[in-house]
Amino acid sequence: MINNTNIRLLKESENKTSSKFLELNPWSIINNNYEKDQVLSSESIFSLGNGEIGQRANFEEDFTGEQSIGNYISGIYFKDLTKVGWWKNGYPDYFAKMVNCPNWNRFKIFINEEVLDLNTCKEISSFKRELNMREGWLKRDVVLETKNGDKLKISSKRFYSLKRKEIGAIKYSITSLQSNTNVKILPFVDTEIRNNDSNWNEPFLKTLDTEIEKNNSLVISKVIKSEFEISTFSNTKFYIDGELSENIISNSNPDNLIGSCNEFNLNENQELVAFKIGGYCSTNNYSKKELKEKSKIALKNATDLGFDTLLNEHINQWKNIWINSDIQIEGDLLAQQGIRFNIFQLNQSFNGSNPNLNIGPKGFTGEKYGGVTYWDTEAYCIPFYLGTKNSRVAKNLINQRYKHLEKAIKNAKKLGLDNGAALYPMVTANGEECHNEWEITFQEIHRNAAIVQGIKKYVDYSSDYNFIKNKGIEILIAIARFWSQRVNYSNQLNKYVILGVTGPNEYENNIDNNWYTNYSAKWCLEYTRENLIEISKDKKIYDSIINKTNLKNIEIEKWIEIENNIYLPYSKKHDVFIQNDGFLNKDLKPVDLISKKQRPLNQNWSWDKVLRSPYIKQADVLQGFYFFENDFSQQTLENNFNFYEQFTVHESSLSACIHSIHSVRLNKLEKAYEYFLRASRLDLDDYNKEVKQGLHITSMGGAWMSITEGFAGMRIKNGMLSFNPKIPKNWKQYAFRIVFRDRLINIVVNPKDVKITLLKGKKIELLLNNNKINLS
Ligand code: BGC
Repeated sequence: MINNTNIRLLKESENKTSSKFLELNPWSIINNNYEKDQVLSSESIFSLGNGEIGQRANFEEDFTGEQSIGNYISGIYFKDLTKVGWWKNGYPDYFAKMVNCPNWNRFKIFINEEVLDLNTCKEISSFKRELNMREGWLKRDVVLETKNGDKLKISSKRFYSLKRKEIGAIKYSITSLQSNTNVKILPFVDTEIRNNDSNWNEPFLKTLDTEIEKNNSLVISKVIKSEFEISTFSNTKFYIDGELSENIISNSNPDNLIGSCNEFNLNENQELVAFKIGGYCSTNNYSKKELKEKSKIALKNATDLGFDTLLNEHINQWKNIWINSDIQIEGDLLAQQGIRFNIFQLNQSFNGSNPNLNIGPKGFTGEKYGGVTYWDTEAYCIPFYLGTKNSRVAKNLINQRYKHLEKAIKNAKKLGLDNGAALYPMVTANGEECHNEWEITFQEIHRNAAIVQGIKKYVDYSSDYNFIKNKGIEILIAIARFWSQRVNYSNQLNKYVILGVTGPNEYENNIDNNWYTNYSAKWCLEYTRENLIEISKDKKIYDSIINKTNLKNIEIEKWIEIENNIYLPYSKKHDVFIQNDGFLNKDLKPVDLISKKQRPLNQNWSWDKVLRSPYIKQADVLQGFYFFENDFSQQTLENNFNFYEQFTVHESSLSACIHSIHSVRLNKLEKAYEYFLRASRLDLDDYNKEVKQGLHITSMGGAWMSITEGFAGMRIKNGMLSFNPKIPKNWKQYAFRIVFRDRLINIVVNPKDVKITLLKGKKIELLLNNNKINLS
């Protein structure tokens, strides 16, 4: 078998550095050219959010070119009825989809009676867009000539307040570059928004009430077939030459645009500035009754402060976030910009401000995946939030699973399992399974193990063992019960097998004995037993758990029997674990032999062809080597890495980070670096040609892991924080901070030495290259 993956990776990185679309900058994402075919991608890349509400970076004025308007509130979803073919038993009834809300960011603008629209302009002589990650705002400057020959400059700056989670603000200005420009401007809330990703092409929202009062707009909407209600509101103030001006000529809301039209005449170089402050309140935080009133209060408080004050308090919040979470890389702008983009977007999508929210794979940047919770949270995001926030944030995420335990038990029951066995959903908004493809809903059961991994990571990192004692153990027992019933004994193999599954590699379905799934099952049983033994030291608590869960010794004995006899497919010939039964029957041609034109495969091949091929969507066996690294030798890792890497296409965003972390362990630093770039710049450089659908938020946690767990070798070993740092050849230095058990620790790594400093908190002992050191 040919192993030329290094060559492949280098070629891809060459492509990437030659991308002219985005400028390299350590703190900003900048685009200096207006390109029609990049509008959709830019809407994703320049997205804004504050962890509770967010938006794609749509233009504020009309745009008749292709665009995808998106404004979302975390936790507000529509139950989109599932379409199933003929076998309906056990299917979820709906897919939960985050609702695309009325758009308060809009202005309808007429320049000398012509609608302002970048798509129809005669000329755009300059265009610059900047997403400033240090301060959390988006800015756009355009100089243009309209179809009718009017010349103007437009500028906009906007943000979603980190401090006031219901509020966003826009400063929008029009400067006339000629004498006599008549401007009619209508700041409005657009109620005609539909989700792009809807099963039945039906509206998800119904407008209940609208109010226009001068330049204030308010819309109350209801999510159809649900109890969710939201209000969308805005206030606009106009200034000419610094003087507050208002000239309402109508509020007849043409085309259902909820707002008032104002008219101004501008002389040459005169600037009209509109400050539009708006946002959303919802039944997430208020009762239906108080929604309108609370919205008006939130809006008034914000408008009283004004744009600049709101922006300053927002920038201060970002300062605090960066203090704990920045990663600095010297000598490599590509990497620097990439990792900051990831940290920035993760914080924009979820920053722990509300214990009931979670992280959608695309955050607020697109509708794919419904904006709801996947195994991604536990497998890829928990480490980031543990490392950069108070441990309460990660605890809240895990706690949501505890709250959903009863539903997970119900879900398993639906599939024929009993006695308190739990199958957590692959996709969920409220604990109920809502993915509707059988090969995922029923078969991608490895997610149950990721929940246990999340608990382990949280407890190991925070040392909050009480969580396991008080809650976690119930989850562990229910999941152990699931595995013990989902296996069956094969008389042919004299082993326990797990049939009919899909592993993390979704490019094979309904397979038997996925090594990763089988190994995970074994590990979950062992981990549950270990914890029961630990808890049994406190008889009172142990007895109460046994009582509550009605756990019998005979069940535990069965777990041991399964642990010792589970089938773990192995190939003597290749000296690797076999991904699943039948994998070695495939035509094992390395993916480099497939022409570039056919990649990504998922956009060029039929499903059937993909399923029959040996190509692996994302780390599968190698995902197991990530979670269970202590169980295998370096040599075993190396064999499996070399074998599977050549078939892996990384068409899931979750793949590159795992490959990067393994490459560091294997001392393949060049490869680790290439994979790190792929993970951290996946969206900026659009590796998988799909960024227009939205950003890959959850995999950004993996990019963070590639530095902390990968290059810096961060682990928890015997309860201690441990580092084993390495550095890519082209980096002069990298530095990051982590929050660890009420401390803030700074790590600086350069080719010559490593410096670890305790910035805040009590002294602590930790491991550096397996040697104990004291930090005080
Ligand atoms: C991956 C899944 C992941 C989902 C959401 C899919 O493409 O294969 O593992 O959970 O995306 O990120």
